[in-house]
Amino acid sequence: MSTLRQLLSWGSETLEKAEVPDSGQDAWMLMEEVFGIEKSYYFLHGTDKIDLDVQKRYEEMIRDRAKRIPVQYLTGKAWFMGYEFLVNSSVLIPRFDTEVLVEETIKHIMPGCRLLDVCTGSGCILLSLLEECKGRISAATGVDISKDALQVAIANRNRMGLTADFRESDLFSDVEGVYDVIVSNPPYIATKELEGLMPEVREHEPILALDGMEDGLYFYREIVAQAGEYLEQGGWLCFEIGYDQGEALKEMMTEAGYGQVKIIKDLAGLDRVAIGQKNNN
Ligand code: GLN
Repeated sequence: MSTLRQLLSWGSETLEKAEVPDSGQDAWMLMEEVFGIEKSYYFLHGTDKIDLDVQKRYEEMIRDRAKRIPVQYLTGKAWFMGYEFLVNSSVLIPRFDTEVLVEETIKHIMPGCRLLDVCTGSGCILLSLLEECKGRISAATGVDISKDALQVAIANRNRMGLTADFRESDLFSDVEGVYDVIVSNPPYIATKELEGLMPEVREHEPILALDGMEDGLYFYREIVAQAGEYLEQGGWLCFEIGYDQGEALKEMMTEAGYGQVKIIKDLAGLDRVAIGQKNNN
């Protein structure tokens, strides 16, 4: 029988050997999850002997993490905009960088806003916007091509007690009606760049959520070409984009007739968001 303390150092060392980044932090997060404890409990009871069944569960999780399965898929949860979202391997893990898109989109959400999220995945963007703009959004729709992803989005919606319509749709194929704001974080990594990603992403996150085809811009072209039909005059199209895609997006949106197109950078100073307004003509 081991103690919590012994188990945590074993976990941390095992992850370090597997070259897991933040090995100590992940070993602790899994301990927190499996044992349902907080740091204060650990400090008081670190030398207590622990139940063999729970120990085995912890060891299994550490072994999975050593295989580079993201820690969020093991705990089933991820934080985004200060909210806890359920995740599994059918959805992209919400990224901190995507919070910039949410913050910028909020600025265009006026009372009575009808909001559409294309490629909604876990629903993290749509549901955070609903939380942050309480009362200002009159209708919220999230679409995704993946049925499995939609199940996660629906579970998140129900857990947060929010109202949103999630539906299966290949981009706009099953979208109805007109919206004031369309937001999207589509797959935007060029196919040839996928192999350079960390094993956590490359081997475990859904390729469908990452692959932006040949030059990474495929989904922006499609969405820019189709969105006008579903946007109110003066409505806003808000994208997350890759670190070097700002210029391409600015050109693409301007050519398609969007006005006031702006590219916003993230905290690292890289292109992160593109926003444009459907012209009032
Ligand atoms: N909208 C989801 C997110 O931002 C999923 C994005 C995607 O699958 N490309 O996390």
